[in-house]
Amino acid sequence: MKTGMLAADAAYDAVIAGREGDVLTAYEEAYKTSWVYKELKIVRNAKPLLTKFGTMIGGAVGMFDLWVNHLTGGFSFFGTMKHHKTDAASTELASKHKPIAYPKPDGKLSFDKLSSVFISNTNHAEDQPAHLKLLDPSVPINVNLPKYGEPARLYCPAGVYEVLRNEDGSNPRFQINAQNCVHCKTCDIKDPSQNIVWTTPEGAGGPNYPNM
Ligand code: SF4
Repeated sequence: MKTGMLAADAAYDAVIAGREGDVLTAYEEAYKTSWVYKELKIVRNAKPLLTKFGTMIGGAVGMFDLWVNHLTGGFSFFGTMKHHKTDAASTELASKHKPIAYPKPDGKLSFDKLSSVFISNTNHAEDQPAHLKLLDPSVPINVNLPKYGEPARLYCPAGVYEVLRNEDGSNPRFQINAQNCVHCKTCDIKDPSQNIVWTTPEGAGGPNYPNM
């Protein structure tokens, strides 16, 4: 949110000053002098360390790294570690994993996806062009489903993507409930076939958290 606000401020200032070409430079400067940059720099190795050493050792080393970073204002014995694959390329075949049987939401501490979408006040004008598009509509069922179990139906926090079937389990079909999208952009990043294109919706549609 903070980086979005910085980007909006930089764009506004550049337009008012008639220097639209300077938006990216102004934005980068504003970002690098903001508190969000300092906070993100301190935790920059947290996920790469988990990936490299696993949850237990990576978690312990990550805590130590975070502490050193915090005390020194950004120094790390590991420098700045890199991810070597994109999130999309890191998706493993479904055949290498067992399905997880999650307990049903109890409505007190855990909730189903659509109840949570309702609380986010998400809305998009019904007559606007779809903001979620597939480069190739056949990929979800012909590629993603057999290879990866079509992960979009699992990682999307808003239940936007569904694989519908007949009662006997035949005829799988991919359905996109774009109206529910809470704009996390996970699908744009994580789809293993990089087949989902997320575009900015019209007219400030999307989630609306009035108490934030
Ligand atoms: S952006 Fe997030 S909420 Fe929207 S469809 Fe993609 S994964 Fe779902």
